[in-house]
Amino acid sequence: MAPRPDAAPVRITFLGGLGEIGRNCAAIETEGRIVVLDCGQMFAGDDLPGVDAVLPDLDWLIDNADRVDAIIATHAHEDHIGALPYLMAHLSVPIYGSAFTLGMIEHKLREVRLLDRAELREVHDRDRMPVGPFDCEFLPVTHSIPSGNITAFHTDQGVILHSSDFKLDLTPVDGRRTDLSRIGALANDPGVRLLLADSTNADRPGASRSEKEVGAVITSLMRGQEGRRVIIASFASHIHRLQQIADAAVATGRTVVTLGLSMRRNVKLAREVGILRIPDAAIRDIEDIDDLDPARVCVICTGSQGEPRAALTQMALGESRWLKLDDNDTVVFSSHPIPGNEAAVASVRNGLARMGARVLHSGQVDVHTSGHGKQQELRTLHSVAVPEWFVPVHGEYAHLVAHRDLAHEMGMSPDRVVLCEDGDQIELTSQGVTHLGSIGGDHLYVDGTVGDLGRAVLGDRRVLGDDGFVAIVVHVDLERGEIIAGPDVISRGWVEQPALLAHETAVADAVEKDLMKALADHEEDLNALSQLARRAAGRTVNDRTRRRPMIVPMIREG
Ligand SMILES: [Zn+2]
Ligand SMILES: [Zn+2]
Repeated sequence: MAPRPDAAPVRITFLGGLGEIGRNCAAIETEGRIVVLDCGQMFAGDDLPGVDAVLPDLDWLIDNADRVDAIIATHAHEDHIGALPYLMAHLSVPIYGSAFTLGMIEHKLREVRLLDRAELREVHDRDRMPVGPFDCEFLPVTHSIPSGNITAFHTDQGVILHSSDFKLDLTPVDGRRTDLSRIGALANDPGVRLLLADSTNADRPGASRSEKEVGAVITSLMRGQEGRRVIIASFASHIHRLQQIADAAVATGRTVVTLGLSMRRNVKLAREVGILRIPDAAIRDIEDIDDLDPARVCVICTGSQGEPRAALTQMALGESRWLKLDDNDTVVFSSHPIPGNEAAVASVRNGLARMGARVLHSGQVDVHTSGHGKQQELRTLHSVAVPEWFVPVHGEYAHLVAHRDLAHEMGMSPDRVVLCEDGDQIELTSQGVTHLGSIGGDHLYVDGTVGDLGRAVLGDRRVLGDDGFVAIVVHVDLERGEIIAGPDVISRGWVEQPALLAHETAVADAVEKDLMKALADHEEDLNALSQLARRAAGRTVNDRTRRRPMIVPMIREG
């Protein structure tokens, strides 16, 4: 059904997640009212020294806070809900999501004392209800976390379908399959006007394996570890994986022990909302580990990504409060390293091997499967939804391009597939999708507490990390045009002893010479003198060492 020519346009602003895996966030609006679709964070890699988190461009949302009516959380992964604590410091609006998703959000907001700002509104599979200015329908979807939702926005411009993160697992652990039949029905009537779909695995041929197949591998692996203690690392939010690990443990006569704060918390929440079933008799706290026969234990822990403070990392360093590993232990990584985490994961594996443990990972045995659909699954979604317009979302630029190409291959005309990046704003009218421009879409860096960390600071940290710094301290008397004390040169991370002393002396001499000349010429501006000192020092440093440390002149009066 074509929209009426005078129907209100729908505008979508992509605030993150298009151009990287992480910090997914979009604002979808009509007649001036906004619904925020996910608000995630991205973990900072080694190229961002000292940065704890990377957020979407929340400034735009905060500037438009009075127009925001609601937030929809599609599922509870960090790249979809991780920035909510930052956003909710500026907003007070209801958040819609499934019971499990909201349980995870509740914990996050309570931690930062912002729970009273958000009314958490639970949605059930196939619910249809008004959310802000939209009429929204929530459909079940399979992914590597339970209770995710596809959202269908019924708008005056037709149906906008957001796939959420998805795979098409036909034998999901909880039996809750992606509702393809409803998507097909929507495609028939009234039609899918615009599809926004997950591109994470758009460059991978074939289809992802069902989560259930992983369960069978884990069970047979556990059978092969007779007489040994088994420790399995997994994402704490991957409840279906935890279910299968627990089932395998119980089937092979082992007691499940959870280790790691988030593991314990998520297991508790998932058992409470009824999506994780472990008999009370089969699960114990880590505090009880010494009461149990090590050969009849399966420890499930955090740290599969080599996170510095996680339980597994502590074991690898021999610093775990609870477990000392030796050659009677088998450690299983039931995960793939997320791009960027490979080095950290390798270092944890090496540490575990050094303790004597047998280490098994997804490169050796099939103990993991992706939560994101590969090309065959994407083709299936496209062929069921038959969208009129398509914007690939959730992926690095190359993934978005691969998904665009896949849509072309499925018969979509090239002008109906719109490639967008972070910050891009599009509008859907009766004429179709148009690109309105960009609002920026900058990364927002967080270090420690909530707050912006500018690019300048990061640039400085990189320089300091690469070449160190050279500081020059000089006390001058401006009236008499003299140096009173110094130049004293202090450096760190620049060059090794014993060469250092000669280099520092050369820097001091060069600065002294130029400063004395300027002071004799009655230069009385401290900033100008600082610039002069910086140039003299920089020149000498570069001539002698070919390095580019940060030069910090400190010219003081008196
Ligand atoms: Zn996800
Ligand atoms: Zn995601």
